[in-house]
Amino acid sequence: MSVKNIPYKIYLDESEMPKAWYNLRSDMKNKPAPLLNPGTHKPMRAEELEQVFCSELVKQELDNDTRYFSIPGEILDYYHTFRPSPLCRAYNLEKYLDTPAEIYYKFEGNNTSGSHKLNSAIAQAYYAKKQGLKGVTTETGAGQWGTALSMACAYFGLDCKVFMVKVSYEQKPFRREVMKVYGADVTPSPSETTNVGRKILAEHPGTTGSLGCAISEAVETAVSNEGYRYVLGSVLNQVLLHQSVIGLETKTALDKYGIKPDIIIGCAGGGSNLGGLIAPFMGEKLRGEADYRFIAVEPASCPSLTRGVYAYDFCDTGMVCPLAKMYTLGSDFIPAPNHAGGLRYHGMSSILSQLYDDGYMEAVSVPQTAVFEAAEQFARVEGILPAPESSHAIRAAINEAVRCRETGEKKTIVFGLTGTGYFDMVAYEKYHDGKMDDYIPSDEELKKYIAKLPKID
Ligand SMILES: *Cc1c(COP(=O)(O)O)cnc(C)c1O
Repeated sequence: MSVKNIPYKIYLDESEMPKAWYNLRSDMKNKPAPLLNPGTHKPMRAEELEQVFCSELVKQELDNDTRYFSIPGEILDYYHTFRPSPLCRAYNLEKYLDTPAEIYYKFEGNNTSGSHKLNSAIAQAYYAKKQGLKGVTTETGAGQWGTALSMACAYFGLDCKVFMVKVSYEQKPFRREVMKVYGADVTPSPSETTNVGRKILAEHPGTTGSLGCAISEAVETAVSNEGYRYVLGSVLNQVLLHQSVIGLETKTALDKYGIKPDIIIGCAGGGSNLGGLIAPFMGEKLRGEADYRFIAVEPASCPSLTRGVYAYDFCDTGMVCPLAKMYTLGSDFIPAPNHAGGLRYHGMSSILSQLYDDGYMEAVSVPQTAVFEAAEQFARVEGILPAPESSHAIRAAINEAVRCRETGEKKTIVFGLTGTGYFDMVAYEKYHDGKMDDYIPSDEELKKYIAKLPKID
């Protein structure tokens, strides 16, 4: 129960920003399973990973024990251009929903990339620069990660090659051009520029692409170009580590006003924003110091946690990446062109997968039109135009708040508002014109892909 009047926006002073990232793995009893070499099925050694990833990031990836990693000054210098981000009290949404619940959202859309992805992009670009690399390659779905990485590479003077999922490349020409403003080289994926791209195009002519395909192309390009490494915007342990700034700031802001959340909600694509938002709270839960409900929200069209299996799988369609143990729909699964491009990934962070499997976290899936309905309710009273990805969390938060109205419970709900939707107007247009469908894959369809998972003993 709060003692002070809570403002609409809780801003932190720059001096209150975290100076270190928190490594949630250090407090997990069951550590996330290690990445495996796709050929030998043995845990990937640092030397192997360093052929694909930057060395310092490999260290972070493999470290399950160090609790805090201090944030280098050069990264803090850039964080200061867009952080700390506000924790907002959704007074107007509460009033509109007539709910006794208190609703807060951590808003990560206040930067040009329009999402939380810049938190990790700037860190990854920094370590690439420090290693003396020429540039980095990556994939992007909806374009937020590609934009964030382009910005980060521009800042550190690195070359940036982005493989953009074809459906987004075509639906989001403005997003593509923003990346070019920051100097990135953008190729629609699958493309004819890589072996794996040509193979996927031959097998699936006319495919609209997927994150899994784009990852394969980006990895191939990194390993076949001297002075390049591959960087990834989600899923990996290192990305969740960097994104812990979201949760650390949220916790500092809540603590300032003595607010204790009951439910913490985030959308889940590869799991980075959710993993970052919940990190310090989940740490308390794992250490037995506090209890919270955590809810991962995913699209019904790409339901990795709610309908996938927990198994080793390839991270990419071309099967060139290490194997990760995660909740997965199978690396061959190409989701329907759901407009929340950032949530179209077949797998899920190994950290979140383990926590979910151990019962520390819940997951729900929501259909697309219900997500846009929530997005508009939110936009009309809170003002911010939310990204479709973020709107999955809004949908779940509204559902919980409505439940409170029905039961009279006064829960405190915190959700992650990961970004803005200015580049998603084609999706909003489809929603307005009644042309948005709620495609949900059948059990038969899912079984087909899951049957193709690699057999690991
Ligand atoms: C990429 C993205 C997501 C999903 O990615 P996670 O790694 O699961 O956080 C969510 N919201 C926005 C705005 C994004 O750009």
